[in-house]
Amino acid sequence: MAEQISAVPASAAPGEAPASAARIGPASPADIEALSALLVETVANNGSVGFMHPLPLDEARAFWRGALEAVARGERVVLCAWQDGQLLATGSLALVQAPSQPHRAELTKVMTAPAARGRGVGAALVQALEQAARERGRRLLTLDASLIEGATAFYRRLGYHTAGDIPEYAYKPLGGLGATRILWKLLDAREPARTLPVDPAADERYMRQALALAERAEKEYDEIPVGAVVVSAGGEVIGEGWNHNIADHDPSAHAEIMALRQAGRALANHRLVGATLYVTLEPCAMCAMALVHARVARVVYGAADPKTGACGSVFDVIGDPRHNHRVLVQGGVLGEEAGRRLTNYFRAKRGKPPV
Ligand SMILES: [Zn+2]
Repeated sequence: MAEQISAVPASAAPGEAPASAARIGPASPADIEALSALLVETVANNGSVGFMHPLPLDEARAFWRGALEAVARGERVVLCAWQDGQLLATGSLALVQAPSQPHRAELTKVMTAPAARGRGVGAALVQALEQAARERGRRLLTLDASLIEGATAFYRRLGYHTAGDIPEYAYKPLGGLGATRILWKLLDAREPARTLPVDPAADERYMRQALALAERAEKEYDEIPVGAVVVSAGGEVIGEGWNHNIADHDPSAHAEIMALRQAGRALANHRLVGATLYVTLEPCAMCAMALVHARVARVVYGAADPKTGACGSVFDVIGDPRHNHRVLVQGGVLGEEAGRRLTNYFRAKRGKPPV
């Protein structure tokens, strides 16, 4: 295995420094000292990785020697993220050996050095582990994440689903029993990021157009300011919409639905294959399902909706692996501006000044 890929922090939060200089590759015996130091440090910081504090360095070395032997037997994958000779992070895949589960691997021992956190290195590492799993025919990834460390949000952003929580699962390194959350992800055989090139400048341009429609909804129709634009696979705007609920007495007249209807008429087809929908607010469950039905390739939204968002904020309708069509999702494009517009609309309704 000679994978040496550049870390692409696709899931790094906006504003985070890129991890573009980090190199991710398989661990070798020469890495055992650095890996052992990272393990001891993680345990000392109360990180739940199966060990108790204080972890003697010799025990850490013995663990990694055993792990690399498992790699040699084809039972495990250990990846490292390096930058300027420093080990930033590591993560492992335990390739489940049960004959009934040739498709499953466990994501385990994912550790990021404190100095490297918040840079997208962890996300890039997990994505590299997912790719390694695919290459070995493993489609189902499972893991348990301590509930104390906020790891759940990290994995949720990467598309992992929560199976449930188990109380008193394991002792924390510094003592006290902690609960754990069991997470899973079914990997798509397709590699979505590679099938659809993304142009951030175009995303912003179409989101501006959606924001202009949102403004129109508010100014001309006194509707909730949400706007949507559908762009065809060929890059043509084929649908525009804004909220029409109040004017039309129509509970289904969300901006996305209006834009999808117009796009369908424009193409004379109820399937909008390869199209991208831009919307200023995270779609609700109804609109998320409509996007799946329409076979839209990608949805780009502005502000997250913590009340009814169905692209991961409240529900994860769009990312549910049981759909036979996969819609790629990107949130946060001009999100602040879109969110401010909505906040001010509701503030004005209550007679309050804008923020
Ligand atoms: Zn909706």
